[in-house]
Amino acid sequence: MSKWPYGTQQWKALRLAKLMECPVCEPCRARGVIEAAEVVDHDLAINAGGLAFPPLEGLTSMCASCHNRKTNAKDRRTAKTGKSSGFRRAWAGFDVNGNPIDPEGWNDA
Ligand SMILES: [Zn+2]
Repeated sequence: MSKWPYGTQQWKALRLAKLMECPVCEPCRARGVIEAAEVVDHDLAINAGGLAFPPLEGLTSMCASCHNRKTNAKDRRTAKTGKSSGFRRAWAGFDVNGNPIDPEGWNDA
């Protein structure tokens, strides 16, 4: 996590602001589980054209487990092949109504 912008004071302040706004993991919360957030994730990756310092709505609080899953499902594919790694969700699991909690729904881009 030493890559820009994560070492900057601006990112540290933004990350802290996000964790204060939402101290629990958002994917876990969508599944009805309360887990402390450890990671602040960019909704749109910087290397995909996202802002390095987006407004808080452009960030997601996540626990380490959800963040790793999202990274494996999503961010890595663009680095390697530029293609989807297949039928994998960035956000694992389902809400109380049985719908997938992944904000992208059933359609894998
Ligand atoms: Zn989680």
